[in-house]
Amino acid sequence: MSKTKLNALLAQIRQAEIAYHRAPLSVQLLAVSKTKTANDIAQLYTAGQRHFGENYCQEALKKQQELGAYDITWHFIGPIQSNKTKAIATHFSWVHSVDSLKVARRFSEQRPVYLPPLNICLQVNISSESSKSGITLDELPDLFEQVAELPNIKLRGVMAIPEPEETFEKQRQPFKTLYQAVEKLYTSIPLDTFSFGMSGDLEAAIAEGATIVRIGTALFGAR
Ligand SMILES: *Cc1c(COP(=O)(O)O)cnc(C)c1O
Repeated sequence: MSKTKLNALLAQIRQAEIAYHRAPLSVQLLAVSKTKTANDIAQLYTAGQRHFGENYCQEALKKQQELGAYDITWHFIGPIQSNKTKAIATHFSWVHSVDSLKVARRFSEQRPVYLPPLNICLQVNISSESSKSGITLDELPDLFEQVAELPNIKLRGVMAIPEPEETFEKQRQPFKTLYQAVEKLYTSIPLDTFSFGMSGDLEAAIAEGATIVRIGTALFGAR
């Protein structure tokens, strides 16, 4: 069953790449496995999926232990508590949800030297809701420069979680705004990652430049 869902989703991503004139295989699938079991992950792994995203550190570490023999690339995508940065820096390859220089510095200091640099995305709040985490567009240029200079981490790009919208055109708008803002920064810092799009808006995200889509529900069913 999970293999069927995975193949259908990958086909949808490949179709969207064609429809929106994106390069073939330019959009990578991140399977979001929060609240799902190690066994659920193992099934998708057997079907070919290698990148998995988790939101809660403790929950993720338990599953990582159970899946120690699997060659999985782990992405942390949830809110970051300062007392968890060391564990995250040690047990993940990517963090998508960095939203302050302070947190980026902690990752830089705590990333073990025997591991390659930790891949980082800055989470940007592109919906105006003040309750959402993420930095504002205004803060982006300065933070980019400061984070890019830190050792042991590698700034890859941005992540966004826009407010749910009903129409495709409305879904595209915030991604487009952020993509254009980041494009302006390209000249000084090489970036290759737009972590845009979830089950409800992945087509709009791909249309506007997503390179990683983070999909839970469409793969594993409702949580
Ligand atoms: C849960 C979650 C997802 C996946 O959402 P779905 O709607 O289930 O696809 C993606 N990104 C983040 C940051 C999440 O917390």
